Amino acid sequence: MKVTVSAIKADVGAIGGHTKPSEALVKAVKHTVNDASKSGTGLLIDYYIGYCGDDVHIVMSHTKGVDNKEIHSLAWNAFEEGTKVAKSEGLYGAGQDLLKDSFSGNVKGMGPGVAEMEFEERPNEAFTVLAADKTEPGAFNYPLYRVFVDAISNTGLIINKSLAQGVKINVMDVEKAEIAELSMWEDKPTLEAALMYPGRYVIASVYTKDNEPIVSASTDRLHNIAGKYVGKDDPICIVRTQKNFPATEELGSAFNNPHYVAGNTRGSHHMPLMPVKLNSPASINFCIPIIEALVFSMHNGKFVGPMDGFDTPDWDYVRQIATKRALTIRSQGFIHPATLVPSELEYGEGYNDRMDVLRKKMKPMK
Ligand SMILES: [Mg+2]
Repeated sequence: MKVTVSAIKADVGAIGGHTKPSEALVKAVKHTVNDASKSGTGLLIDYYIGYCGDDVHIVMSHTKGVDNKEIHSLAWNAFEEGTKVAKSEGLYGAGQDLLKDSFSGNVKGMGPGVAEMEFEERPNEAFTVLAADKTEPGAFNYPLYRVFVDAISNTGLIINKSLAQGVKINVMDVEKAEIAELSMWEDKPTLEAALMYPGRYVIASVYTKDNEPIVSASTDRLHNIAGKYVGKDDPICIVRTQKNFPATEELGSAFNNPHYVAGNTRGSHHMPLMPVKLNSPASINFCIPIIEALVFSMHNGKFVGPMDGFDTPDWDYVRQIATKRALTIRSQGFIHPATLVPSELEYGEGYNDRMDVLRKKMKPMK
């Protein structure tokens, strides 16, 4: 049976800042999706709704394929209903990720982030949705590199026949909206060169050598879409696991070394990516970037789960490491690399105002 899994997310408002959606907001989104799934149209097989920080995610299974208008329209409508509640409650950033007034057939380029893939369902299909907040799509570069390229991190790359053959990794240039297919192992150093710069080159998808999809990640950059800062481009991605793909624990352990990512407060800093439990609010400790792991089983398109991937006691220790690294980099304040380079500051206008003053005071040196 061919099934499509679509994970669509948006920030349409949060309590007292960029923290988490209200219960009523999430309820409105759920209500809309639930109505559609019970309307007898057979649109959805199953769905799950939760949030990571201020981003609400809708995970859906169906047989309509990727980029389907009805599916995208349903997500858009659900986020619109959430926005109505957010406005009525005075939530911060109400509707901030809905950049257009009306739906035009596909949510891509309209604000929400989308990861989706269609595949022949295995008898015991396993996949994990990774949802992050206060960061950018390039945040997945390092952990996905550990999973698919680095045998020191993942022994499966040696002892699993499929993974040992190498995978095909599609890398997107998010500034030029171009994509390159890189084949392991011959393109390994080229991939590494691209992944050095997660602000520009991001992993969009991963396939086996015989074209089985393993990873689909959202790659939209909101501030490019809108031409100005409108919100953080918090990413979401789907990773199939087990058998010919990475084991679920090989995927999860790629997040046990909280690496520094861009985003955080005002989308203008570097801080470590902290694994957190499902439906966690964003931290008000300078918005440490966070990531959740929604671990699913699926049969005939029906979900079991999600199991909370970062809930076990060992992750409390990893959270401590992330907290220590966060405090360490914050101790040097605004001095780079605690802050992003000027071209990547989400609040570039304010920075340019300061620099205009500096430029006026500049005199040629004698
Ligand atoms: Mg967010």
